Amino acid sequence: MKPRDRLRIAMQKSGRLTEPALELLSRCGLTFRQSRDKLFCFGEGEPVDLLLVRDDDIPGLIAQGVCDLGIVGRNVLGEYQLTAGREGAALSEWRPLGFGRCRLSIAVPQELDYHDAVQLNGQRIATSYPGLLGEWLRTRGVQAGVVTLAGSVEIAPRLGTADAICDLVQSGGTLVANQLRETEVLLESEAVLAGPQTLPADERGDLIELLLKRLDGVIQVRE
Ligand code: ATP
Ligand code: ZN
Repeated sequence: MKPRDRLRIAMQKSGRLTEPALELLSRCGLTFRQSRDKLFCFGEGEPVDLLLVRDDDIPGLIAQGVCDLGIVGRNVLGEYQLTAGREGAALSEWRPLGFGRCRLSIAVPQELDYHDAVQLNGQRIATSYPGLLGEWLRTRGVQAGVVTLAGSVEIAPRLGTADAICDLVQSGGTLVANQLRETEVLLESEAVLAGPQTLPADERGDLIELLLKRLDGVIQVRE
């Protein structure tokens, strides 16, 4: 691939992280002209462009070198780091960004008298995060079945396809609506700036350093 002289940042095209990510970048002095197809946003001042994609694709795009950085939930980055082998291990979290806060938690049917993780032994847990859940179960020495679902995880216990779930929780409203109760927090998540372990050794590396400096200023002011 031809080396790029512009920095490319992957972010969510449409979802919870889109507006706050754009706002953060604009506070860092970056402005963009949106292209017609809305996949690509051309940076107007600095040579920094955006690629607008599904959040799940962001870690892979960085690992493959299609993008230099990404703004993505720690939950999505962490899952990729655990499940994508060497490509996953090549990524790291550069900065927490302070928005998109949620938790990856285990929830069980409200009527269950849950008091310890050992109760999950032999149970089936539905999740979209088999990597993060699997690691947590291993460190606890719990042997549970992991049922991987792409979405609508919270209805699995009612359907009888799982006994518990491991899913993202923010207010807890979805859990209550599905007669579930949060019992264990596996991960405290928020949007993060994700990138490769090492800076590219060209102008893009300098641009990333500049961006990090501005980000640190903006995040400090906000705190
Ligand atoms: P995409 O179409 O990009 O795949 P999505 O449906 O996977 O979108 P969103 O629901 O927009 O993603 O959530 C994006 C991120 O927002 C999550 O990965 C998570 O980090 C964060 N988040 C914050 N609160 C919640 C919540 N209550 N439920 C789900 N995600 C949340
Ligand atoms: Zn997604």
